[in-house]
Amino acid sequence: MSRLTIDLDALAHNHAVLRQQAAGAEVAPVVKADGYGLGAAEVARRLWDEGARSFYVARLEEGEALRPALPGAAIHVFDGVTPGSAERLKAARLVPVINSTGQARGWDGPAALHVDTGMNRLGVRLEEAEALAKTLAVELVVSHLACAPDPAHPLNTSQLERFHAALALFPGARASFANSAATFLGAAYRFDQVRPGISLYGGGPCERPDGRLKAVATFEAPILQVRDVPVGESVGYGAAFTAQRPTKVAILGAGYADGLLRSLSPRGEAFLDGARLPLLGRVSMDMIAVDVTGLPAAREGAMVELLGRNVAVDDAAAAAGTSAYELLVRLGRRAERVYVSS
Ligand SMILES: *Cc1c(COP(=O)(O)O)cnc(C)c1O
Repeated sequence: MSRLTIDLDALAHNHAVLRQQAAGAEVAPVVKADGYGLGAAEVARRLWDEGARSFYVARLEEGEALRPALPGAAIHVFDGVTPGSAERLKAARLVPVINSTGQARGWDGPAALHVDTGMNRLGVRLEEAEALAKTLAVELVVSHLACAPDPAHPLNTSQLERFHAALALFPGARASFANSAATFLGAAYRFDQVRPGISLYGGGPCERPDGRLKAVATFEAPILQVRDVPVGESVGYGAAFTAQRPTKVAILGAGYADGLLRSLSPRGEAFLDGARLPLLGRVSMDMIAVDVTGLPAAREGAMVELLGRNVAVDDAAAAAGTSAYELLVRLGRRAERVYVSS
């Protein structure tokens, strides 16, 4: 069976890097989508031990599920007050991030307010915020950047300007603007609280591997079979790979049902015993082939790294034409899960 190892010490290391980068601003981890696929409760508990006291999830249900693991934390829900959720939010002591005037009407507890500053996803417009300033007890003003991984993008500074305009309406409230990428953008983007997700889990702020961060997730699959493929024969569905030389091929026990995106072929790589192994042919549901020519360590049962210290999540994502986020959240539903910490 494939194995997803989650290194909680690496998570703590990345948290420390973000704290240093945030230079005094509170680091409020984002643990939505089951902690980017790595286990929200386990991840959040370790981050609590590292000093984190505020957390963010996307859904009401995620907040409810997280509450028992974090009885003392402030847990914010990005979806806000969805229809019928007010009582459940209160019962679990969750803080909704209010996104609209309608949501504000349905809530009388402590609230964060999401002000849209140009992404046009969630949040009230500046004019609406002005009206809400008179009626809602806003403790925290939140906004989110559309293009933070691209430091030169003009939307960054224009969103920053609008965020300042929004903050002027709520003089007593704290401010939270930066995701992972924006935490690295510069002091102007950090305010009172930053909300990193992906960089806690090892994804670089600019969608490239970043030497300051450690890989948290390692995904490995066992070699099911090793075979010699003669010149001219093909491997896998669609005969997408044809051997140009005598090729030793290892068939690994992980495929797209385990979260290995089909688009990882033909550019993806695996790693075993110091060697980079090209993926061969298509990713199947339960299997993928790799080239192990000349590699004695490639024996049945050996575990091959598909993601981890040697195959960076950002590189694998680039090979698959997707983001580190999508790769992580899809990974390891069928894997043995192991949490390690010293
Ligand atoms: C997901 C999310 C974050 C975290 O973003 P990362 O890029 O993973 O650091 C922060 N704020 C909001 C509103 C989000 O939706």
